[in-house]
Amino acid sequence: MEFDDGSTIKADGVFIAYGVAGSTALARKIGAEIDGNKILVDENMATNIPGLYAAGDCTGGLLQISKAVYEGAKAGTEVVKRSRKGE
Ligand SMILES: Cc1cc2nc3c(=O)[nH]c(=O)nc-3n(C[C@H](O)[C@H](O)[C@H](O)COP(=O)(O)OP(=O)(O)OC[C@H]3O[C@@H](n4cnc5c(N)ncnc54)[C@H](O)[C@@H]3O)c2cc1C
Repeated sequence: MEFDDGSTIKADGVFIAYGVAGSTALARKIGAEIDGNKILVDENMATNIPGLYAAGDCTGGLLQISKAVYEGAKAGTEVVKRSRKGE
């Protein structure tokens, strides 16, 4: 890679990050409670909007895949439980 100042870096590959979608924009539009840049959820990943769950980076805390997967599984399990109850 060659930069504007003429300096160069040798690399086998490059990840290009050209902006990211805001994680809370959609939730905010729907009316979910937000604190700063995180969506507020209860222990089952439910937001204040019935039937709306949030998981992963958008709930704040540790920004790691393992946490996102755990929270997603938790939210999914809760949805299944509630749908079995006919809620
Ligand atoms: C450069 C980098 C390196 C990382 N390395 C690691 C690592 O080594 N190990 C690790 O555990 N974690 C790593 N992370 C963090 C990890 O990527 C995140 O914690 C994880 O991806 C969170 O998953 P998520 O599903 O919550 O969010 P995301 O993976 O960000 O997925 C959210 C998705 O929702 C989409 N979206 C947002 N708003 C809308 C909308 N309104 N409509 C439709 N789609 C929408 C976004 O485009 C995105 O595809 C890294 C992050 C970065 C940026």
